[in-house]
Amino acid sequence: MYRFLATLTSLFMALFMPLCMAVAFCPFANAQDYQPQASAADRALARAIFKELIEINTTDMPQGNVTTATAAMERRFLDAGFSPEDVHLLGPDERKKNLVVRFRAVGTPAEKPVLFLCHMDVVQALRSDWSTDPFQFVEKDGYFYGRGTQDMKDSDAALVETFLHLRREGYKPHRDLILALTADEEGGKFNGADWLVREHRDLVDAAFVVNPDAGGIELEHGRPLVAEVEATEKLYADYQLTATNRGGHSSLPRPDNAIYELTASLDRLAAYAFPIELNEVTRTYFANLAAQETGTTAADMRAILATPLDTAAAGRLSAEPAFNARLRTTCVATRLSGGHANNALPQTAQAIVNCRIMPGHSPEEIRKQLISIFGDPQLNVEYFSSLGDISATAPDRKAIVPPAPIEEVWGPLTTLTQAIWPGLPVTPVMETGASDSIYFAQAGIPSYGFSAIALERDDVRAHGRDERLPLDSYWKSLDFWYAFAKKLGGD
Ligand SMILES: [Zn+2]
Repeated sequence: MYRFLATLTSLFMALFMPLCMAVAFCPFANAQDYQPQASAADRALARAIFKELIEINTTDMPQGNVTTATAAMERRFLDAGFSPEDVHLLGPDERKKNLVVRFRAVGTPAEKPVLFLCHMDVVQALRSDWSTDPFQFVEKDGYFYGRGTQDMKDSDAALVETFLHLRREGYKPHRDLILALTADEEGGKFNGADWLVREHRDLVDAAFVVNPDAGGIELEHGRPLVAEVEATEKLYADYQLTATNRGGHSSLPRPDNAIYELTASLDRLAAYAFPIELNEVTRTYFANLAAQETGTTAADMRAILATPLDTAAAGRLSAEPAFNARLRTTCVATRLSGGHANNALPQTAQAIVNCRIMPGHSPEEIRKQLISIFGDPQLNVEYFSSLGDISATAPDRKAIVPPAPIEEVWGPLTTLTQAIWPGLPVTPVMETGASDSIYFAQAGIPSYGFSAIALERDDVRAHGRDERLPLDSYWKSLDFWYAFAKKLGGD
């Protein structure tokens, strides 16, 4: 479907581009020409909510508390007239409560709800590292500064304001719109998205999820380059490798010591390439990218989309880590330890191998595959969970292979993005990292990651120092969410 839309867009551009040069009217005017639509009152409210959230520390540290932030938002929804039955503050820990708000449809909706998924926690930030106080909302030189201004209190605030705005104007959606503000995406023991899917599926069950914690508009010196939408993601898994040996005196070396045994296995892993796999999302991604690339790279991208797969072309593309990561499961050794004395043969050696698994495979399937790659029955390969627990086997849950992006999301997302950033290509991507979308993907609910935030490609400061957001990006995202929520809910 995307390809069809892209064709329409090019056709439209071909028709209007000559006009652009000749007359004042031009549908593809510079993106700077777009004027934010939200009223001064809505912008003031969006700013106040943003400030309130930035100034509540929601790190997974002793001084952090997610519930303070979710409870503050709960108060705003109740004050605005949302029914207490539609506002739920809940979680497995006093400091890690999630807020789930339902904007109820009129009558009995024919379609399942839409869920907007936003995490409320942030990564730790130290005052001594920053130019400003990370937990103070500072406006300076056209930017909002503070921890979470990019990741992702900007979108949390914009969506809270959007729901309040829609409520105030008496909007009546034809399906339920749900907003979930959750804990522990960045770390901690109480991941809210995971918990809600497992324990309160009824509250968050949806036709699809929109997660502003991914994707967005990439700018280069103010010029919008591309809008990326995360339509699937790889699965994260760590494995602990342990080689053990009887050891001995280092003056009498033997090749069968624990370190040599371990490094021989790691060498086999380094030489191994997992099979190439494409899905509907990566196919569309490479097809779109091929249109922008030139020469061999463009030709190779087209060649890997053909049947049968052109293995030479895939090999050339795999030399680029960013392409390789989108073509196959990858595993790499990230930590190493071993031995107990300078003058003794090592009795124990350990390594951590980190894998990023293609949708359709489980961590346990990859554990078994690693064992066969290592080909060493003496080497113990265990699963190392995100909480640090070691187990003999890994989870069997796999991320579902994504369908082609669905039109009811893709259509309005593209149209509205291009209304704000005229002519901008919109492309689905497979995230090689991980977000909370994975819990919904595993439950069979498709998830789309899009922040509607425009950032310079060299000014991504999420998790870093002096995190900041251009005011202009914030106001545009506010317009996007308002219009997008209405499109999804039926206007
Ligand atoms: Zn995030």
